[in-house]
Amino acid sequence: MKLDVVKVGGAILEDEAALAAMLARFASLQGARVLVHGGGRSATALASRLGVETRMAEGRRITDAPMLEIVTMVYGGLVNKRAVAALQALGINALGLTGADLGYMRGHRRPAGKIDYGFVGDVDSVDISKLESLIASGVVPVLAPLVYDGSGGLLNTNADTIASKAAVAFAGRFEVCLTFCFEAPGVLADPSDKGSVIPHITPSIFESFKAEGIISGGMIPKLDNAFDALRAGVKQVRITDIAGIGSDGGTLVTLE
Ligand code: ADP
Repeated sequence: MKLDVVKVGGAILEDEAALAAMLARFASLQGARVLVHGGGRSATALASRLGVETRMAEGRRITDAPMLEIVTMVYGGLVNKRAVAALQALGINALGLTGADLGYMRGHRRPAGKIDYGFVGDVDSVDISKLESLIASGVVPVLAPLVYDGSGGLLNTNADTIASKAAVAFAGRFEVCLTFCFEAPGVLADPSDKGSVIPHITPSIFESFKAEGIISGGMIPKLDNAFDALRAGVKQVRITDIAGIGSDGGTLVTLE
């Protein structure tokens, strides 16, 4: 059986009309599906309203104790429940979950290296058996980027990683199509030109574009997650804008 895992990224979550369009597109997919969301920009906005400083290192958020409270509120609360409510209005029986809900995704705190990223989790295990029975009864899981540490704590985890790990776990049971949906129409050969979508990307094309600086920032871990998912049995990975969800648009990621 086919399963669509769709991850929706930062800029779309921030834009009410874009989010509504994305959720409508997601709701129109046929068959079993899972939605995964990020929310970093909303967390930064709430932190600033609460007077909590957002600290970044090498482009990534440092999740200290006050920031863990904020990402828990924003990812597990505001962003997740808004998406669930909007999907319910579209007739989709959505259920929002963090890794602690049903204990479905566990991780451990990443040991501090040169930089201590704080309460950031690396995923250890995904127990999809509980999600599978929900999916079988028509429920659509909406996954927030928070993992459970097994001893009462939540940890902040990159949403692309959550999507990739969940897709891999489902790949044992389903033919999984993983779609990373963001604001651009795909991976671009010229980041300033939306018409320059690369229709097909492999690890060797990725390495040369990365070396040239054409692929940078958040696109690097996104593609790393995409290749990891394919190597671990996910059938298809696509990086696209809203219009590409459930279609053959955007960038198809393959191993060769
Ligand atoms: P998300 O929007 O899913 O949260 P990220 O911000 O982590 O994702 O990663 C996507 C970002 O990668 C884009 O917003 C864009 O700025 C950046 N990027 C870097 N290189 C490219 C490229 N060649 N094509 C498209 N986007 C790119």
